[in-house]
Amino acid sequence: MEEGHNFRQLRDAILALSAATDWEVARKEWSLVDISEADEAETCLCGHFPIIEICTIANRVTGKRAEIGNRCVKRFMGLRSDLIFAAIKRIRKDITKSLNADAIVFFWERGLLTAWEYRFLQDTMAKRSLSPAQAATRAKLNQKVLDVVKRRGFQGLN
Ligand SMILES: [Zn+2]
Repeated sequence: MEEGHNFRQLRDAILALSAATDWEVARKEWSLVDISEADEAETCLCGHFPIIEICTIANRVTGKRAEIGNRCVKRFMGLRSDLIFAAIKRIRKDITKSLNADAIVFFWERGLLTAWEYRFLQDTMAKRSLSPAQAATRAKLNQKVLDVVKRRGFQGLN
């Protein structure tokens, strides 16, 4: 157990918002629905402070939502939010880089991308040399993703 990340506290909080009473079942009820980077550090449900990479998870059975840190989402919920944050870090460092598959699907599901944009990002994901027009489009879409991750409380556009 990593210091500062209290699994029992997180588990109890999540179980209280779940329909199932067994942890292994209960955690399967949850999906990742939003990610954001907090301007001011927040506290995870596990009690850990500070967290900056915030994940909103929603329970598909009870409809409840919770906000927990990226680390706990991966470690305890088994959801790979870390791969999406990795893609965000990559494009922030270099806007010409491509998003990864996890990020592309996530932002498509959240309604941020049009069908055309979703297709474009897939088609160009593995390409290192893009035409000037393609490079401009990729940079524009990357910026759209960066903007939305900074907007606290983004819950999808659709
Ligand atoms: Zn935590």
